Amino acid sequence: MTDTTPTLWFVCGSQHLYGDESLEQVAANAGSVAAALDAADAMPLRVRYRGLLTTAEEIRNVCLAANGDPDCAGLILWMHTFSPAKMWIGGLSRLHKPFCHLHTQFTRDLPWASIDMDFMNLHQAAHGDREAGYLHTRMRLARKVVVGHWSDPDVHARLAAWARAAHAWHDLQGARFARFGDNMRGVAVTEGDKVAAEMRFGFTVDGYGVGDLVARIDAVPDGDVDDVLSQYDDSFDLAPELRAGGERRSALRYGARLEAGIRAFLVEGGFKGFTTTFEDLHGLEQLPGLAVQRLMVDGYGFGAEGDWKTAALLRACKVMGRGLPQGTSFMEDYTYDLSADGQQVLGSHMLEVCPSIAAARPRLEIHPLGIGGKADPLRLVFDAKTGPAINVSLIDLGGHFRLVLNEVDSVDHPALPRLPVARAVWTCRPDFTTACSAWIYAGGAHHSAFSLDLTTEHVEDFAAIAGVELVVIDGDTTLRTLRRDLRLGELTALLGDGLRGR
Ligand code: MN
Repeated sequence: MTDTTPTLWFVCGSQHLYGDESLEQVAANAGSVAAALDAADAMPLRVRYRGLLTTAEEIRNVCLAANGDPDCAGLILWMHTFSPAKMWIGGLSRLHKPFCHLHTQFTRDLPWASIDMDFMNLHQAAHGDREAGYLHTRMRLARKVVVGHWSDPDVHARLAAWARAAHAWHDLQGARFARFGDNMRGVAVTEGDKVAAEMRFGFTVDGYGVGDLVARIDAVPDGDVDDVLSQYDDSFDLAPELRAGGERRSALRYGARLEAGIRAFLVEGGFKGFTTTFEDLHGLEQLPGLAVQRLMVDGYGFGAEGDWKTAALLRACKVMGRGLPQGTSFMEDYTYDLSADGQQVLGSHMLEVCPSIAAARPRLEIHPLGIGGKADPLRLVFDAKTGPAINVSLIDLGGHFRLVLNEVDSVDHPALPRLPVARAVWTCRPDFTTACSAWIYAGGAHHSAFSLDLTTEHVEDFAAIAGVELVVIDGDTTLRTLRRDLRLGELTALLGDGLRGR
């Protein structure tokens, strides 16, 4: 998939009161800060200095320019000196891009022995940024506040998390998701209001009959199928029957055709993710398992059983995690170990777990599947990496959307020699009983985006940009506070957006 990486605009606020000489110094300092952030290893996006703003007209022009520039994912604002905030109303009330308020100061150490009123005049973000913050709060503007010296790696980490969320948000605006068939019959949580989703998140979900996909799969040239097959041979440990000359090689060849056909359909339509359903496979010889796994690892969002909300969420998580090493996958809470020393979740799916989370080179296998009524499907089989992770779910409550997040720990587990699917095993924070109770009280789905790269901070920043409720289940969660927070979330949604926007 080809898509361009957007940039962030760094904007500094001041006023004319200080005279040209001071403003030249302020502009030079702001340019240095922007350049340092641009060069910081942690920053996933380029940071471009967009100038010193000292009038309402300049501010409005920059905000309108940001709205109109498809390359701009968001703004970082900093008030080097005092910038009377009324001049920001006209611009900020029109700004449709996310912004982050960096509360920093050009000089790190106070020069105790030499400080004079010239220094005080120049370095007054300490109160200039409070004036800005008041107005942001007064205008009820969603933003992230990052505090600390601009050279501090912790400041870079906070900014980088927000930048990843802003990137994902930017990526979702106008994004298209292809939905082959409807959702699995009778399932509630995979339903949702696609009009409300487009209004809230900016993406569209376009339905296709599976016949449209079958036609594209059948049209894939044999040479393209050969190319995909050779990638399988190079990338995975193939079961003996799937290797060249093996008795199931022709099934693998069809699997390669499935992948090439779905990929072509997505590329030609400019889609960023897709859903399938095993209840609508007419004309397909196999349920696509391997193909879905291969497309997820390339950054496509995916939701099984028609789950378009999870497809979009997974895409957002994939973009947030771009360039990070551990991986992010579609996931389902599948089964439990309820023993006293277990209290663990075995997460998996029938087939579709992303190999980006694989701890080792996956095995490529073929086995029968009890549902779908099709030929045996191919799948990559592996154990997940271990370490801290999150599970995130996006649900439609009718009145509003809610993100539910649980901090978990992916752990080692006994061998599973008879389980022919990819899997992860995790423990939940704060503990199994509290986490599962909280998730169920919150209405979290059985489908989620599982990420070993992202943290709660990324999803918090994303939720703030989207204006969506986020319920966090972490080491500090108690059921009493969680249930109170759920009631607060309902009230906030009702009073904040009413019937208009969700
Ligand atoms: Mn499922």
